[in-house]
This record gives sequence, C-alpha cells and structure tokens, in this order.
Amino acid sequence: MEYNYDDQNIFAKILRGEIPNKTAFENDHALAFHDINPQAPVHVLVIPKGPYMSLDHFARDASADEQVGFFAAVAAVCEKFDLGQGFRGISNTRTHGVQEVPHYHMHILGGRPLGRMLD
Ligand code: C5P
Repeated sequence: MEYNYDDQNIFAKILRGEIPNKTAFENDHALAFHDINPQAPVHVLVIPKGPYMSLDHFARDASADEQVGFFAAVAAVCEKFDLGQGFRGISNTRTHGVQEVPHYHMHILGGRPLGRMLD
C-alpha cells in the first residue's frame, strides 16, 4: 500500500525539535518519549526517526538497521523502566485501529497490571 507521509504531523515536529518532548531514550534510529496523556504509570511512545506512517509501512519499508535500532529502543525502555513483570506494546494503525498521529509509534504501557484488552 502506498502512502504519503505528512511531515507536518506532531511527531515529525518533535523529531525536528520544533515541539518539546520528555525524552526517555534515543539512539540513531529511534526516539522514545513520555506520552503527554499517560494511561499507566509507564507510558512511553517509541518512534522511528524515518518517515513511516504505520507499523506495516515500517515493517515493509524501513532498513534492517532502522528496524534493529527501533527495537533496541523498545528494549532499552523496558530495561530503564524495570518492566520485567510485563507490559503492553500497542501500535494503533489507521482508521480501524484509531491511530491519531500519522507517524509510526509503539505505545509501551506498564507499571501496573493492565487487564485484558481485546476490543
Ligand atoms: O496511537 P495514537 O495515534 O492514537 O496515539 C497518539 C498518542 O500521542 C496519544 O496517546 C497522545 O497522548 C500522544 N501525544 C503525545 N504528545 C503530543 C501529541 C500526542 O504524547 N504532543
């Protein structure tokens, strides 16, 4: 599926430093920052630095280095926030997935039991 990446989206602005963020971790290929509206004691968003809209685009189009860097950031967040008891990684995708920001991101939620979520 082709897509047009909107470089005016809010996460693109965060990556360019135009909007502040509370950074949790950063490497060459990914940035992790605290969600402004946290839904759990730990609620971090991990985003690739490249222009990918959604999980499937990132999986298809990002280079191996970008994908390794992204998941290294996920692992670093889990380590930093001591999520050994578990967490949830969510990537809301497009309309049916209720994705608000059109730059690929994974929510990392943890720090308490989260309950079931299968709606
Ligand atoms: O997955 P979805 O696109 O719906 O989630 C976007 C997330 O980005 C929300 O949880 C929202 O609180 C967060 N957000 C943020 N900082 C912004 C704008 C949105 O953390 N400046």
